[in-house]
Amino acid sequence: MKLTDVRDHLGDCHRCALSESRTTLVFGAGNPKADIVLVGEAPGAKEDSDGVPFVGAAGKLLDSMLARISLDRSGIYIANVLKCRPPSNRDPKPDEIETCVPFLFDQLDAIQPRVVGTLGNFSTRVLLGTREGITALRGQVFNVRGWTVLPMYHPAAALHNGSLRPEIERDFLRLQEFANPDRSSA
Ligand code: SF4
Repeated sequence: MKLTDVRDHLGDCHRCALSESRTTLVFGAGNPKADIVLVGEAPGAKEDSDGVPFVGAAGKLLDSMLARISLDRSGIYIANVLKCRPPSNRDPKPDEIETCVPFLFDQLDAIQPRVVGTLGNFSTRVLLGTREGITALRGQVFNVRGWTVLPMYHPAAALHNGSLRPEIERDFLRLQEFANPDRSSA
């Protein structure tokens, strides 16, 4: 299935209750043939209004992290576990994740990236099928369906705790290393 087919299949989705409160369904954005896919949690307020993932304060930080490894959004793909904003940015509920996450896997199957960076607890747990938290899993490398999966801190974590910023920078350097092993060893 191509990425456009996944989007068509999702349609004007009302498969879970979040459809009632969302403004815009945020499917994902970027290069459909990307080597790197980043997976976040769910749209926030600005994403919900703009229809684009990671456009708020965390998105600005994401852009600066990408720039540090000589990338921008045109070279990667960004998606979320949930395509619709949970009210007041509450945590996703298990039934919402269960309903929405097949579309994330369809997106990944369509893109076939080399590396998937899971940003924070929810996407890490979904991709790895675990209940472990990001702090325990970060720094490890996993293989899921042939994709290299790297658990990473969510950029928003640095907005709440500035001391995490160097750790997040390290996560992005590892992402570059695994996405482009030839260049990083040159
Ligand atoms: S969160 Fe996912 S399953 Fe729920 S309405 Fe939005 S697109 Fe559909």
